[in-house]
Amino acid sequence: MIDARGFPTRYGRGLLAELATSLPDYLVVAHPEPWAVVAPTLPRAPLAVVDAGDLTREHLEHLVATLPDAGAIVGVGGGTAMDTAKWIHWRRGIELHQVPSLPSVNACFTRMVALRDAGGVRYEGDAVAQQVLVDLDLMAAADPALVRGGIGDVLSCHTARHDWELAAALGRDHPWDAQAAAMSLAYLDELEGLAPLLAAGDDDGVRRLMECHRDIGWRCHELGHARFEEGSEHFFAYAFEALTGRTIMHGELVTMGVLVMSTLQGNDPDRPRRIADAAGARTGLAELGVTWDEVEATLRLLRGYVAEHGLWWSVANELVIDDEALEDVRSALRVGSRAWR
Ligand SMILES: [Zn+2]
Repeated sequence: MIDARGFPTRYGRGLLAELATSLPDYLVVAHPEPWAVVAPTLPRAPLAVVDAGDLTREHLEHLVATLPDAGAIVGVGGGTAMDTAKWIHWRRGIELHQVPSLPSVNACFTRMVALRDAGGVRYEGDAVAQQVLVDLDLMAAADPALVRGGIGDVLSCHTARHDWELAAALGRDHPWDAQAAAMSLAYLDELEGLAPLLAAGDDDGVRRLMECHRDIGWRCHELGHARFEEGSEHFFAYAFEALTGRTIMHGELVTMGVLVMSTLQGNDPDRPRRIADAAGARTGLAELGVTWDEVEATLRLLRGYVAEHGLWWSVANELVIDDEALEDVRSALRVGSRAWR
């Protein structure tokens, strides 16, 4: 188990109801499904509840300007709710409490906000959560497929570490840090250990996965970058979003990115495949609602996309997408060969 550092975190049941008795007047940014589970348990209603959704600067600033005065903001739900709450906390200087609804949400453990900007992602802000409340009832109420998809932002260490090594050898971006790079492997080992617990719906799988996210969030801040955890698998995800104008659950999209990019890196793609399967994560294109044509178009876009957005150097910068590469990716995603299409 990872000995995690980072924001104070509590695991248990009915945690927000307990907190709400002592909170000053508060605001909530929430996704509707988890909010419907939590709201009836609260002893005192918030001053306002905002739906999470839009992460453009314009929208966030509109919220900062128009929400009523309050002493605290609480994010309830997925990454968008966490990031919106972080922005309001940072701009207003009010207390921040986070109640993630899925163990995929590392946004509650990171300090910057992932703004959506001109088809890309830009990190800004500096938020420090007073505490993160991991409500195990809320996690249990979530779609199990989305809970298991929470592996994505830890599994990403597999491809990210490889990209970082590649970049460092070329003297690009952030210099190699042996300790952080060793932690990439420690997180993967931990993920491999907890994967069967996650598949079985065991609270301990959720707890251990969240502790990985917590330590990763802490390390990103300490190190000043996320190269040990973010590389071409995320860039694949961003390119997919830019290309299709939509997204799927972040952890599932990143997991797909790891399966695809580890194959193109020639970087032991069997290991992330083994972990994803042990966790019971969805990786089939049909069950994810993604078509092969979208994957292929994303791969063709990727090299130009990372250059245009100035993303960290990775295998994507010199990617050649020929028939052989496409065949390898098809096989990694179990799409079947071209002959069967
Ligand atoms: Zn991510």
